[in-house]
Amino acid sequence: MFDFLIVGAGFAGSVLAERLASQLNKKVLIIDKRNHIAGNAYDHYNEEGILMHKYGPHIFHTNSREVFEYLSQFTAWRPYEHRVLASVDGQLVPIPINLDTINKLYGLSLTAFDVDGFFKSVAEEVSPVRTSEDVVVSRVGRELYEKFFRNYTRKQWGMDPSELDKSVTARVPVRTSRDDRYFTDTYQAMPLHGYTALFEKLLSHPNIKIMLNTDYKDIVGMIPFREMIYTGPVDEYFGYRYGKLPYRSLEFRHETLDKPVHLPVAVVNYPNEHAFTRITEFKYLTGQQHQKTSIVYEYPQAEGDPYYPVPRPENAEIYNQYKALADATPNVYFVGRLATYKYYNMDQVVAQALTLFKKLAKGEQRGALT
Ligand code: FAD
Ligand code: UDP
Repeated sequence: MFDFLIVGAGFAGSVLAERLASQLNKKVLIIDKRNHIAGNAYDHYNEEGILMHKYGPHIFHTNSREVFEYLSQFTAWRPYEHRVLASVDGQLVPIPINLDTINKLYGLSLTAFDVDGFFKSVAEEVSPVRTSEDVVVSRVGRELYEKFFRNYTRKQWGMDPSELDKSVTARVPVRTSRDDRYFTDTYQAMPLHGYTALFEKLLSHPNIKIMLNTDYKDIVGMIPFREMIYTGPVDEYFGYRYGKLPYRSLEFRHETLDKPVHLPVAVVNYPNEHAFTRITEFKYLTGQQHQKTSIVYEYPQAEGDPYYPVPRPENAEIYNQYKALADATPNVYFVGRLATYKYYNMDQVVAQALTLFKKLAKGEQRGALT
């Protein structure tokens, strides 16, 4: 008899498996329908010996000391600050839009003070700011919105930014400084030996059993367990009772090139050209030295593995119905990006899992007292 069946060996499931096994001495079975652990953060060495991320670039960044310190028990780190260029009007310019972006794009030599005035002069007044169009247009005006955000978003999400919640494009800030880092979080680093190695450590406790190539639906009646933690799509769990929740998918096209370097930075975004959104060169992320280099193109798709929840009011309404059902389901806990339908980064999923663990540990304590 397992104390917990955990469905999904991504960050949500694996962090909970580790905590329950090591802190509460629980017997855990963690399963995944894929043939590997680490969920979408999975990385591996390809046939050329280059470390690559199977499901697109995963860059770790967080402001949470708790999350960083927690993960540091399972990996050493390689300091890494992510930089991205966007291909716009025939040039490669920094994104997030910053002082250098504007000077390069328009052939100007503005100062930080001037560029603040420039943004104010082109910004449109929007009130309230609700959508992913509003958030950009109200900050940098329509022209920059169209050059950098409109078409990228249409490609990535299959819909116009005006149909998406503001939180989507608000992920990308605008700066008056020359800071060209994609993230400004306190902790920015990559696991020194990769994500899969980190997950192997997370799941190495003797109380944890791992079962791959297994869909929970195929074993749920056969393996006895007391409680379940579910990290797959929440609508699927409930048999799509309230309809399908849209998840955006991607197709990844991986290539290895016979040269040591391909791009000027780790990622180049293509808002206005091509069917793909961006190209990533993994060696920038991993720091690996190799004669060849591996890159990945991301082609957004409506169908396929669920990668992104789609933040917009009508989807939030459907999710809330599923959430009510989830809350009323005894002995099953829903956690992670797919099960709580949240556009979360890895650190947010780790934080969410640690919060659920604290709740479970408290319940355990109360149970022991009564
Ligand atoms: P997942 O990693 O998706 O794990 C869920 C697991 O459940 C999967 O392995 C799945 O196979 C399994 N599963 C589902 N249903 C079943 C079932 N019925 N039976 C058995 N197993 C099942 N975050 C960052 O912080 N930085 C980044 O740079 C970044 N880049 C990203 C790039 C892309 C292209 C994508 C798609 C995501 C990116 N993320 C990034 C987000 C990151 O991938 C997620 O936050 C994180 O992986 C979510 O972890 P999770 O455990 O919730 O879900
Ligand atoms: N975005 C854009 N142009 C860019 C970069 C991002 O329009 O050059 C928008 C787009 O809608 C994207 C969102 O901002 O989906 C969030 O970007 P981020 O890089 O955080 O996406 P992720 O890495 O999660 O795919």
